Amino acid sequence: MMSEGHDASERTDSASWRRGDYLRLHLRSRVEIFKGSDEWAELVVEREFPVGETAILLCDVWDNHWCRGAVRRLEQMVGQMNAVVDAARERGVQIIHSPSGTMDFYVDTPYRQRIVNLPRVSPPPPRELLDPPLPVDASDGGCDCDPPDKPYKAWTRQHPAITIAGADVISDDGLEVYSLLASGGIKNLIVVGVHTNMCVLHRSFAIKQMTRWGVRCVLVRDLTDAMYNPRMPPHVSHVEGTDRVIEHIEKHWCPTVLSSFVSPVPSW
Ligand SMILES: [Zn+2]
Repeated sequence: MMSEGHDASERTDSASWRRGDYLRLHLRSRVEIFKGSDEWAELVVEREFPVGETAILLCDVWDNHWCRGAVRRLEQMVGQMNAVVDAARERGVQIIHSPSGTMDFYVDTPYRQRIVNLPRVSPPPPRELLDPPLPVDASDGGCDCDPPDKPYKAWTRQHPAITIAGADVISDDGLEVYSLLASGGIKNLIVVGVHTNMCVLHRSFAIKQMTRWGVRCVLVRDLTDAMYNPRMPPHVSHVEGTDRVIEHIEKHWCPTVLSSFVSPVPSW
């Protein structure tokens, strides 16, 4: 789908040699061994996702943020984010860029146009899932800087370190993203980005909504970061706060992987 003019033949060739290519994922989840005990055990399940049935979504990887700490932590991750995206695109995985609230910046690009122009597909009735409270309190906005930063709309586009190319799309709308997945036979959505306890869970294109619509989500746990201030409950370090949100997601929403999932040699 979505090929345009000059590179269409190249895409057909690569599609044929990609047939049979799988991503081998070590999915980390958590189970409550004795129900109601609140005693949880980590487990890892190996699964192979066909590249043609898999998308990677970058959630709110903006060019800037009102919180200096959030900017500093994202700057440490964007290089690896782009390496994952480049490697996955090369293998035929659909890439979805979702920098919320910045669609005006992309309105005239083919990456935005091709998803805007897709026919809408109605999602199924949402699955009714338990939605327990998050383990960190970010009701203060989650800034851990001293002095604290004041919120404002600091972002205008996706971070320029992330390449947008080939058959990529740009959308910040859950129905658009669902339509792309459903019409393309894509069952698996691998989520990269920020912030773990906010947009990564709560955007219309992100983990809770897509899980309720039956999409198999996976969070890349070394390419995410929470908004959490250690001065707030549970009064743990920022890193520990992010880890607790990741554990919460593994218990209640979806498994996680490390970003190395894309590097193993293809199996064709
Ligand atoms: Zn801050």
